[in-house]
Amino acid sequence: NKNERFDVVIIGAGPAGALAAKRLVQEGLKVAILEKSVFPRFVIGESLLPQSMVFLEKAGLLAKVAAAGFQHKNGANFSDDRRFSSIDFSEKFTEGPATTYQVSRDKFDMLLATAAKDAGADLRFQQDVTDVRFDGAGVTVLGTGPEGDFELSARFLVDASGYGRVLPRLMKLDTPSDFPVRHALFTHVEDQLAARDFDRNKILITVHPTCRDIWFWLIPFADGISSIGAVVPPEQLANYPGDKSEKLWAIIRESADLTTLLQGAREIRSVGEISGYSTKVSRMAGPQFALLGNAGEFLDPVFSSGVTIAFKSADLLIDPLMRQLNGEAVDWEADFVAPLKIGVDCFRIFVEAWYRGDLQEIIFNPPGDANPIKRMIVAILAGYAWDEKNPFVTQGRRYLDMVALQCS
Ligand code: FAD
Repeated sequence: NKNERFDVVIIGAGPAGALAAKRLVQEGLKVAILEKSVFPRFVIGESLLPQSMVFLEKAGLLAKVAAAGFQHKNGANFSDDRRFSSIDFSEKFTEGPATTYQVSRDKFDMLLATAAKDAGADLRFQQDVTDVRFDGAGVTVLGTGPEGDFELSARFLVDASGYGRVLPRLMKLDTPSDFPVRHALFTHVEDQLAARDFDRNKILITVHPTCRDIWFWLIPFADGISSIGAVVPPEQLANYPGDKSEKLWAIIRESADLTTLLQGAREIRSVGEISGYSTKVSRMAGPQFALLGNAGEFLDPVFSSGVTIAFKSADLLIDPLMRQLNGEAVDWEADFVAPLKIGVDCFRIFVEAWYRGDLQEIIFNPPGDANPIKRMIVAILAGYAWDEKNPFVTQGRRYLDMVALQCS
C-alpha cells in the first residue's frame, strides 16, 4: 500500500525505537515501527544502568519490566586477579534509582516492543528498510518484507536501527570513531555460580591480569544463566589458535579468578563476535530525521552505557519533535544533539581513562567512602552522566586526571 501515511516512522524495534514509539503514541501520534528481524531476537548489551529506570518510568514501562523477573542489579564488581573492588550504586552523588536489571535482550526487547504495540504503535517485523527519500513535506521510506517491496511516508523519520546503521549508511554520515577497533567474543553459559562466593546482583568486570587492554564481563541473569564475554584488541586475538569458542575460553583461562568462577559452566549458545563496534556520525539529526541509540554514536561496552544512552536519546527526541509537528521551529543541534552529547561526552572521557589505565587504578584504589569524589564517580558508573551538578560530567577529564594522580 503506497498511500500509507504516518506521523513518525521508526526504523528498528530495539530499546531506542520501542521507547520512542511508546512515548510518541502516548502523545497521540500515528507511529510505525519497521523491524528487520522477528522478535524475540538476540542482541548483545545485557547489563542496564540505574539511570535507565528513569526513562522506563517516564514511558510507563517500569512496572512491566519490574514484573518480568529479570535479575536485580545494584552495582558493579571489578577484579584483576590481584585486586578486587566493589561499587554499590546506592553510594552515588546524583538522586534517582540505585538499582536496575540484567536482562537477556530477546526477552527485554520483546517486552518493550510489545508494550509499544499495545499502546498503539504499528509494529511490523521482517521489514528491511533499504532506502529513504526526503522532500520538503516529509520522508518516504522504502524496503522489502515478506509480501514484497513496501513504501510508506511520514512527517518525520527516526533511525533506531542500531548496528544496522540505516541512515548513516544511506546518508553517508559515518565518521571515524574516537576509539581503535576492538573485538568482542561472547556467549551464554549455564553457570555454577550458586556454588561459589559470587554476588549475582552485580556485573563482574575482570581485567586481564597482564594486559589491561583485555577485559571480560560476567553478567548473571536470574535463571542460572550468565552472559560472558571478552573484549580484545584484534592484534592480540590473532595470537590465539582455534575457533571462536576455543579463543574465548583460552583467554578466559588466563584469569585465575574467572576460571575458578566459570568452572563447570556450559556454553549454551554458539560464541558470537562483533568487531569495530565503536561508531560516530557527522550529524545526529536534521529537520526530518533523528538518529537514536546505536544508530548514532556507540562508544564502548565497558560501562554498560549503551541502552541508557539509547533511552536518553529517545527521551530527548520527544519534546523537540512534538514542538516541530505542532508547527514550531526547532533547532535540532541545540535542542536534541547538544543535550545528548553532555552524557555521551562524559562516558567518552571515562572510556578513554579506562583504556589509558587511569580509571582502572582509580577503581582498584578508590577514594574513601566519605570522599564526595567517590560518590561522583559512582554516579557516572550508575549512568547519571547528564547531571551537570557533578563535576565529572562538566569537567570529566580534569577531575579524572586529578583523582588518578592521587590514586597512583
Ligand atoms: P538495537 O538494540 O541494536 O536495535 C536495533 C534494531 O534495528 C534491531 O532489532 C535490528 O534488527 C533493527 N534493524 C537493523 N537494520 C534494520 C533495517 N534495515 N530495517 C529495519 N530494522 C533494522 N549496552 C548496555 O546497555 N549494557 C551492556 O552490558 C552492553 N554490552 C555490550 C557489549 C558489547 C560487546 C557491545 C558491542 C555492545 C554492548 N552494549 C551494551 C551496547 C548495546 O548493544 C546497544 O547500545 C543497544 O543495543 C542499543 O540499542 P538500540 O535500540 O540503539 O539498537
